[in-house]
Amino acid sequence: MRLVAGWATDVGLVRAANEDSYLVDDALGVFAVADGMGGHAAGEIASSTAVEALRAALARGDDVVTAVLDANAEVFSRAHRQQSLAGMGTTLTVAVTEGGRHLRLGHVGDSRAYLLRDGVLDRLTDDHSMVEELLRAGRITAEEAAVHPQRNIVTRAIGISPLDLEVDTRLVEVAAGDRVMLCSDGLSGLTTASELQSLLDDRTCSPQEAATRLVDLALAHGGDDNVTVVVIDVEEVDDTAPTPRGGAGARPEPSTAHTGAAEPTPEVPGAASTDSADSPGGLDTRVPRRRGRAVLWLLATTVPLVLLLVGAWFGLRAWNDHQFHVGVHDSHLALFRGSADAPFGWDPVVLTEASDVQVSRIQDEAQRAAIEHNKACVTSSEATARRCFAEQRNRALNPGTTS
Ligand code: MG
Repeated sequence: MRLVAGWATDVGLVRAANEDSYLVDDALGVFAVADGMGGHAAGEIASSTAVEALRAALARGDDVVTAVLDANAEVFSRAHRQQSLAGMGTTLTVAVTEGGRHLRLGHVGDSRAYLLRDGVLDRLTDDHSMVEELLRAGRITAEEAAVHPQRNIVTRAIGISPLDLEVDTRLVEVAAGDRVMLCSDGLSGLTTASELQSLLDDRTCSPQEAATRLVDLALAHGGDDNVTVVVIDVEEVDDTAPTPRGGAGARPEPSTAHTGAAEPTPEVPGAASTDSADSPGGLDTRVPRRRGRAVLWLLATTVPLVLLLVGAWFGLRAWNDHQFHVGVHDSHLALFRGSADAPFGWDPVVLTEASDVQVSRIQDEAQRAAIEHNKACVTSSEATARRCFAEQRNRALNPGTTS
């Protein structure tokens, strides 16, 4: 088996810049589409960062899910290193040759993968979009989904969170004659499944011609979004001949990863489809993220703890500043600010006012003991403390009084 790919991308007729990216790497047998979102140049950077990180991970030998998670960590990390990129994200739909006669799909977001076999087009991915979730739950109809005001909202995307990203993955057996298509919603949101099926089933078109015609079709339907298409034909070859990994590598062109230019786009448009013939294939495995980035995990767990401790420290300081008691300073009666019972060996007591009265002159044993143990006149009111201090001093000087 060998794979022959064609690809096309266009900014469309409405947008000022192309935030889609794609990846066609014959040597690795990797094909991907990413649809970026974010302000300024962030969408373009998100999608191009994702496909570059994806390719690097697959080149290292990572499996598809791990590679998608790596892409997620890289986009998230980059967004947090640069303020202007905060909140950026991207969809990512990837197909990788596996075992010679299979394609392994990885998928996050509302870009799509389709398989045309024997003239019938099947959708291989579920959209992670609010509208499609409503559609699957039976709460809206396909007709309502097509015009739903929030059809542009994705519910899962690369780069939004460092943890708990769920990656849909699916192993698809392919055979000679199959045609696989990856596309951004700039195509699927503007066309019907029957249109896509009809165009892809025209075998007089090469994959490259098919990709170009599909982009032209989206433009003919208004081109209100960036549109990106990768078409991959599965061809039979002599299996005894040496082939690159997974049987890919038929194209003579060098591997390429394309990114468009920047444009502020707060969301990924076109999540919904009205295509009744679209039958989302059941994804056979949903793999929760098990491998977090250690640094991100540490940040997520330690930063709140540090903030909590700092808050507790300032709270304790504020409380202590409003504690007073009468005690002993150089064997003399004195007034102190701060608690003598502060925790952790902390000694926050500050001498506020000393006196000329030696504590040993206090005849009342209980009164003297309380003073010597910093238990006299304990209060949170400075005025009360000063009044009590004056009384203690007077009683020491005039043992006969009771004031
Ligand atoms: Mg789009």
